[in-house]
Amino acid sequence: MTTSMLDISGRIALVTGSSRGIGNAIARGLAGAGAVVVLNGLDPDRLEAARAELAAEFGADRIFARRFDVTDAQAAADGVAWVEREVGPLRILVNNAGVQHREPMLDLDVADWERVLRTNLTSAFLVGREAARHMIARGSGKIINIASVQTDLARPTIAPYTASKGGVRNLTRAMTAEWAGEGLQINAIAPGYIQTEMTQALVDDEAFNSWILGRTPAHRWGTVEDIVGPALWLASDASNFVNGQVVFIDGGMTTVV
Ligand code: NDP
Repeated sequence: MTTSMLDISGRIALVTGSSRGIGNAIARGLAGAGAVVVLNGLDPDRLEAARAELAAEFGADRIFARRFDVTDAQAAADGVAWVEREVGPLRILVNNAGVQHREPMLDLDVADWERVLRTNLTSAFLVGREAARHMIARGSGKIINIASVQTDLARPTIAPYTASKGGVRNLTRAMTAEWAGEGLQINAIAPGYIQTEMTQALVDDEAFNSWILGRTPAHRWGTVEDIVGPALWLASDASNFVNGQVVFIDGGMTTVV
């Protein structure tokens, strides 16, 4: 493999939930490899701040932002249509937006169950389907769905999250079954425990912290930068025969008991 296989200069990428956290790091990494990047999120101020920061680094002509709610079918269709119309042909989609909710199942409200399923799983179907319509018409495209170690492992109090991420794994396979023959590569990245706003309460919890360090063969939390290289690989021509895979980036957590 040569480094040029990782060059994605000029390719247009949409990263959902990229106003902060893992999505923001992936967006920065894709921009660093030459892509034209469209950021997305819900909070308009946070989204604009993220756009301005990356635009200062990579140029305003390579960094765009579009606020839309990934759980809303019409908003997802309008968001992808906006990218195609205003920025250009979408080559790379990263379905990253997600939420967490911690509560024992016996107390769990169906509204919270559905909100998590809709944000983490249904959104990947909605945005992925709209992107795929354009990608299939052009015969190429890369979709990266962000799963989790909870794709394979369960823990108490996060049932909807665990169910949603297991769903992301099999949605990745279902997309592959329908669209790989149309020239698309659809894969998933399953991060281990990464320090972001989503996990801040766990980072601050001493008991959880020592559990994580003991449970992770690499003996550390992941950083958002740990996810960037694998995302870049899956977004580039270096992964052109990789289809329907879930790549675990977890310091070995899912390989040991
Ligand atoms: P953060 O909470 O730090 O960021 C979440 C991002 O998603 C924000 O940009 C947020 O936008 C956006 N978002 C949430 N809901 C919506 C919505 N309905 N429409 C559009 N954007 C939305 O999360 P992380 O960076 O930690 O997580 C990113 C992904 O990685 C998630 O899918 C998560 O499940 C997954 N993951 C995270 C792990 C971790 O340890 N952190 C481990 C494994 C997987 P806004 O700022 O506007 O709210």
